[in-house]
Amino acid sequence: MSSTKTIGIIGGGQLGQMMAISAIYMGHKVITLDPASDCPSSRVSEVIAAPYDDVDALRQLADRCDILTYEFENVDADGLDAVIKDGQLPQGTELLRISQNRIFEKDFLSNKAQVTVAPYKVVTSSLDLEDIDLSKNYVLKTATGGYDGHGQKVITSAEDLEEANALANSAECVLEEFVNFDLEISVIVSGNGKDVTVFPVQENIHRNNILSKTIVPARISDRLADRAKAIAVKIAEQLNLSGTLCVEMFATADDIIVNEIAPRPHNSGHYSIEACDFSQFDTHILGVLGAPLPAINLHEHAVMLNVLGQHVEAAERYVTENPSAHLHMYGKLEAKHNRKMGHVTLFSNEPDNVVEFGKGIDF
Ligand code: AMP
Repeated sequence: MSSTKTIGIIGGGQLGQMMAISAIYMGHKVITLDPASDCPSSRVSEVIAAPYDDVDALRQLADRCDILTYEFENVDADGLDAVIKDGQLPQGTELLRISQNRIFEKDFLSNKAQVTVAPYKVVTSSLDLEDIDLSKNYVLKTATGGYDGHGQKVITSAEDLEEANALANSAECVLEEFVNFDLEISVIVSGNGKDVTVFPVQENIHRNNILSKTIVPARISDRLADRAKAIAVKIAEQLNLSGTLCVEMFATADDIIVNEIAPRPHNSGHYSIEACDFSQFDTHILGVLGAPLPAINLHEHAVMLNVLGQHVEAAERYVTENPSAHLHMYGKLEAKHNRKMGHVTLFSNEPDNVVEFGKGIDF
């Protein structure tokens, strides 16, 4: 049997494109499903241009591919279940359902994986907010559809309740206690259905709720870093993980609290393309194919800077002045404000001296 596979990727944004690049240099063929025929993956793969919930298009993808994977979690799980053959989607649709809904996700993390999350409760209407103890701070998050801080309301006083009540009456939510973290961190872990491999701990700096800078290794103690990696491995093992998963966490002085999981390669893992011996995309492809997974070594301390629409010129200037920095551009046609257009990875032991694009001017 040929070891060359046809891999179908649902979603042709930057994550799908970088997955496809890894798959291609391993000798595989890639077909992408994306609503836009000129999506980033169109540079490197054939594209079936159709909406994600178009069951005929999903079936065409499934019929033409040996293995299917996805680049984002808001895929129609029922539609996929209707078309996939046994074992064709190694990540499974259960993981999709868990990560699509914060209520399922919290339940999975706290009760099944038994890792620490911020104390939370499910909120079905504003009635559930009536008796909250306002000596504490909270974040109210819609159970579905939120991303990058959308669908969230921080509650620090009674004045915040009007907006919070409106949010709670518009959708099912979870109310989490606010974590006074020192750092936001994440860990990439990949599985092949049997074994897992784990990446170094990443430190993440957000601006306007969008990742701006990732520093690797994260500036936390070895003890906390080991704990963060152990948590990611525990979650992966509980899921019998296939492919790459990112676990986002908060680091306090002496604890690690899990925030959420993303069942795919993640923006905070892009540094691994140059700084590790295998990237998060390589291990994703190996993992979904059920291939043996390598241990991951970090060659150099690294910093990744995101390039948003308003930063493209600054990033291009930066790499002219710093030719050892790696500029990745995803091939998006329109540079909209806050749209992720690319990233830069550089090796540095002095991450504070690596200035984010747009700092002080235009985040
Ligand atoms: P999320 O959509 O859950 O990733 O949240 C977006 C951002 O809000 C996170 O990156 C944190 O900066 C912040 N955040 C979310 N949940 C909490 C929490 N329980 N306590 C403090 N900050 C939070």
